[in-house]
Amino acid sequence: MPGLLLFSSFPSGHPQGRQRGFFAPDSRSRRLADALVDLIFPPRCAGCGRVDWGWCARCQADLEQTPYPQYVQPLPPLSGMASTAVHEGKVQQAIWSLKYENARHISQPLGDRLAAHLELLDWPVSCIVPVPMHVERLAQRGYNQAQLLAEQAARLATLPCRPDALRRWRFTPSQVGLGREARLENVKDAFEASPALADGQIVLLVDDVYTTGATLSACAAALLDAGAAAVYGLTVSAARH
Ligand SMILES: [Zn+2]
Repeated sequence: MPGLLLFSSFPSGHPQGRQRGFFAPDSRSRRLADALVDLIFPPRCAGCGRVDWGWCARCQADLEQTPYPQYVQPLPPLSGMASTAVHEGKVQQAIWSLKYENARHISQPLGDRLAAHLELLDWPVSCIVPVPMHVERLAQRGYNQAQLLAEQAARLATLPCRPDALRRWRFTPSQVGLGREARLENVKDAFEASPALADGQIVLLVDDVYTTGATLSACAAALLDAGAAAVYGLTVSAARH
């Protein structure tokens, strides 16, 4: 069976991200192939690593019981900035899986959390815009995790999601390990907003993690330049400082 040779090339630890039915010519052998792959690389929960489908009931219960932080921090030129959790534990693991293990389905419980927090915050938002990724990085990863989160939050909040309102036209090196000043310099003028989509809007910017706020500030500045009436920011998690 030539397909078995292909199984050995699967990266271990990436069960959620694999493409199903990649070689099988008909649905019966595809199901057999999928069953074999599940046997060799059982799907694991992105929160705790237990063998389960994607996101287990225990992690979901933990996520639902994690209280929403009450504080809204000032982050000029944004009108308010909040995060649904501290970047640690299961939330941190889930975001890591979403970004680096192709676990796109994790955008659902995390996006639900964004929508629930937005309802508590009661901000007068008219549309949701994800922090964009440069096209080169998008081509490498295949998806923008901030956009998946924004789309899910928008569905629940019944708001339009406008990923085209903002683009990252300058490729910026990774921000990891940089301080706030260096990050501000790194992302300055890296974003451009569409006046047609931003004008008069009260925008909710969505990203996965809040670290120094440099990226969110640069995005907000571009949206306000393009005529947005106000910009708020909401991320799934915030790094402790
Ligand atoms: Zn779990």
